[in-house]
Amino acid sequence: MRYVSTRGTAPELGFSDVLLSGLASDGGLYVPTEWPTLPAAGDDYSSTATSIMATYIGDDISAEVLEAIVRDAYATFRHPEVAPLVQIEDDLWIQELFHGPTLAFKDLALQVVGRLFDHVLAERSDRVTIIGATSGDTGSAAIDAVKSCDNVDIVILYPRGRTSDVQRRQMTTVDSPNVHAVAVDGTFDDCQDLVKAMFADEQLRRDCNLSAVNSINWARVMAQIVYYVTASQAFAEPARFCVPTGNFGNVLAGWIAKSTGASIDHLLIASNANDILARFVNDRDMSATEVVPTLSPSMDIQVSSNFERLLFEMNNRNGARTAEQLQHFRSSGALEVEEANFRTWISPTFSAERLDDEETLAEISRVYRDSGMLIDPHTATGTAAARRSRSNGATVCLSTAHPAKFPDAVEKATGIRPELPPELGDLMERSERMTDLPADLGAVSDFVRGVSRVSR
Ligand SMILES: *Cc1c(COP(=O)(O)O)cnc(C)c1O
Repeated sequence: MRYVSTRGTAPELGFSDVLLSGLASDGGLYVPTEWPTLPAAGDDYSSTATSIMATYIGDDISAEVLEAIVRDAYATFRHPEVAPLVQIEDDLWIQELFHGPTLAFKDLALQVVGRLFDHVLAERSDRVTIIGATSGDTGSAAIDAVKSCDNVDIVILYPRGRTSDVQRRQMTTVDSPNVHAVAVDGTFDDCQDLVKAMFADEQLRRDCNLSAVNSINWARVMAQIVYYVTASQAFAEPARFCVPTGNFGNVLAGWIAKSTGASIDHLLIASNANDILARFVNDRDMSATEVVPTLSPSMDIQVSSNFERLLFEMNNRNGARTAEQLQHFRSSGALEVEEANFRTWISPTFSAERLDDEETLAEISRVYRDSGMLIDPHTATGTAAARRSRSNGATVCLSTAHPAKFPDAVEKATGIRPELPPELGDLMERSERMTDLPADLGAVSDFVRGVSRVSR
């Protein structure tokens, strides 16, 4: 299995190199040279996951090693089915993707990706230093995924005082020598700028072998294909999937599942007030505006970077054309997609709905009243979108976070404060460990050098 860049000029790579590099050297994202067909389902989630991922990994990792990695990753989940379906209305199911260690769907991919990193690095006798910025969910999921990895050090920058208590504690209470949570005196944008500046520093990048596990990493998309497949197999007729999405990562995995043979009828995108994807799907308008904070912060995104992978397909895999369109997007703030292309690729497959905070709270309250279930604000954008745009058959709404991860919004809507699962019950009592740093590139780079165990 080989991979090409969506911008057409980076070298073709195998899976392991794609895993470690994240971004292609021409700034593009890696995709397989051809899409493999879906293998037959396995007996349980891990065996289905192993066979699907094996088609994308090829000879780079043996079947036995891959199976062990996948089983070990999903053994950290609190539910034996890993991603169970729960019916909440006649034609509406939610797929609970929050039974992993950090209570959000990112665990489904990152628990595998961390172990894949460690395996490939051990084989190469190499180490990396993963750096990242987070406003909450990504940082905790990444830290948990690599906390036992011998060959990875991780430094996560978060804006001091601006994450929720649960999110911060999920990063600061992990007691592993390779984990470093840094409270930056600044905003999330400051944290992100610091990470970008560190990647741009060639010397630092080489000395510490810097790496990233953000949502454009191909291996994350690959691992997300699996739950669409297992859910679709529960229905006799093709099901519609509703996906609360920000970066287009989750829904892209759904598109790949559908394109490679999963029984999926349609993909419904749920957006919050940051509605660039909804405007695109409904009106062919992909123009970026200011990010506004909402009750579903993990979807507060204006540039959906994983869309580039679909754009490449829409362009008949023409990397030069894709690079040109994205260049224009960066300079003008608007992505131009030809109408004919839009009618072929977007309208038949995708639709979208946008929910504001008030509608999100009303939906959390309604679902609680009607079904007795507490759902988180991200999931609520999805269930509300599904009801607003009815379809004839079953809809599966992806539930991307546990309600206890966003307790304030849930309590505001229902009067009930959702409880953390028992395994995390003492999170608020565990002792915290973090380093306070100013939003200063010199200070943060020195810190990364100090903790990195890469010796170059
Ligand atoms: C990250 C996240 C999302 C958005 O996922 P994308 O890959 O950006 O579509 C939605 N909900 C929750 C809870 C998340 O953590």
